[in-house]
Amino acid sequence: MADPEHDYDIIIVGGGMVGAAMACACLDRVLDRGDLEEAPRKGRDWRIAVIDGQPPQREWPAGEVDLRVSALSRASQRILERLGAWERIEALGASVYREMHVWDAVGGASIHFDAADLGQPDLGHIVENRVTRLALWELLEQAPQVDLLCPAQLDALVIDDDRARVRLTDGRSLGAALVIGADGARSRVREILGIDTGGWAYDQRAIVANVEIGHWHRETAWQRFLPTGPLAFLPLADGRCSIVWSAEEHRAEELLAMDDARFIAELEQAFQQRLGPVLSVGPRAAFPLRLQHALRYAAPRAALIGDAAHAIHPLAGQGVNLGFLDVAAMAEALEHARRKGRDIGNLATLRRYERARRGENLIMLGAMDLFKRMFSNRNPPLVAGRNLGLAAAERIAPLKRVFMSQALGLGDELPPLARAAASPAPEPPGRHRAAAGG
Ligand SMILES: Cc1cc2nc3c(=O)[nH]c(=O)nc-3n(C[C@H](O)[C@H](O)[C@H](O)COP(=O)(O)OP(=O)(O)OC[C@H]3O[C@@H](n4cnc5c(N)ncnc54)[C@H](O)[C@@H]3O)c2cc1C
Repeated sequence: MADPEHDYDIIIVGGGMVGAAMACACLDRVLDRGDLEEAPRKGRDWRIAVIDGQPPQREWPAGEVDLRVSALSRASQRILERLGAWERIEALGASVYREMHVWDAVGGASIHFDAADLGQPDLGHIVENRVTRLALWELLEQAPQVDLLCPAQLDALVIDDDRARVRLTDGRSLGAALVIGADGARSRVREILGIDTGGWAYDQRAIVANVEIGHWHRETAWQRFLPTGPLAFLPLADGRCSIVWSAEEHRAEELLAMDDARFIAELEQAFQQRLGPVLSVGPRAAFPLRLQHALRYAAPRAALIGDAAHAIHPLAGQGVNLGFLDVAAMAEALEHARRKGRDIGNLATLRRYERARRGENLIMLGAMDLFKRMFSNRNPPLVAGRNLGLAAAERIAPLKRVFMSQALGLGDELPPLARAAASPAPEPPGRHRAAAGG
């Protein structure tokens, strides 16, 4: 039995971008906002523990841009605004992109998206993962009802009728009404719960690096579909681009082993020098790619969110955006239970979240998998078909607007935290700290 000091309402295992956002979404200053639910609040504030093995990075040299960046959609921006983190993210550095240009290496058809066509200021922002995580983590540090247990690792999880019990590798025992697994694609929570996943490895790795280019990127996200995998150039505010080059294993090995001059030559050829010559490249890193989807998101007193529930090919930059929508849906399900005076760890409560998200995520995972397969195929009829499709989508304005609205997260079917704000975003508690690093 956990002692009262270690007894919580919610334990979140994994304080990465998604887990930290989940904890912020459970803070009362966020949930108290009237537009989440109409019924009046019942019950007390939640006590929350966040467990993570790695503290957030707090400082970095001025001007340095990390290799791990994410394209954050408008829906994610709204969620982060409502959590009170967006202002800090912008202060630490967010690079806007207003247009997107995608073209097929075989056949040459292309499609172009411009935020102005929808009367929007931009299509999204490229943000370093460490920036998003730090901004959220700082909010949690200022919240008295949150214990950040870090560094700490989950060792065991036992579910009883009325409590979930967690043991950490340092021997500490904790108890809670609900455990949320936000511990990434190799989730230990998912493993302990015995939840299987469907999916497959792509036999591809995504190589990431920051490059200096000869021409201005025009605040445009560029992507060329090569038969060996997509190559994206994402615009950074300092004029450089962050590249994500997905390549089959043997090709990725070759690209990683090359010296800079050779790598640049290959990159220029693969990208057709759309942004002029590549002037320099920074360090490179690579990530194995897989499609993975948990067969269930919910169990009694436990649920999965973010990459613990689903991992997706990065070709459309959707992974963490889906994770933030999970957060918004889970916050809504938990708040609904609280206002009805129900147990937040009850399977019925968690199924409400699962119903809201699993089908949506499955559609996105399936669509990205289809894109990946379609564009890596050299079969002439298929090449002709996809080029015709791209050309048609480029010319049919209403169709294009539907794609853009989806990508921007402008739909009505979004959970309340992701919808356009009806009232100003909540003030973060306490004062902001001095900006870290650059
Ligand atoms: C090359 C590449 C490019 C990408 N680009 C984009 C993009 O443009 N847009 C986008 O939306 N997504 C993108 N993604 C996906 C995105 O990075 C992930 O979806 C996102 O990082 C998932 O966040 P998460 O918090 O769910 O998991 P993670 O980031 O994996 O965080 C999990 C956390 O749990 C902790 N943890 C794990 N196990 C334990 C344990 N046992 N005990 C305690 N703590 C634990 C870890 O320390 C970590 O902090 C990209 C991915 C790749 C590989």
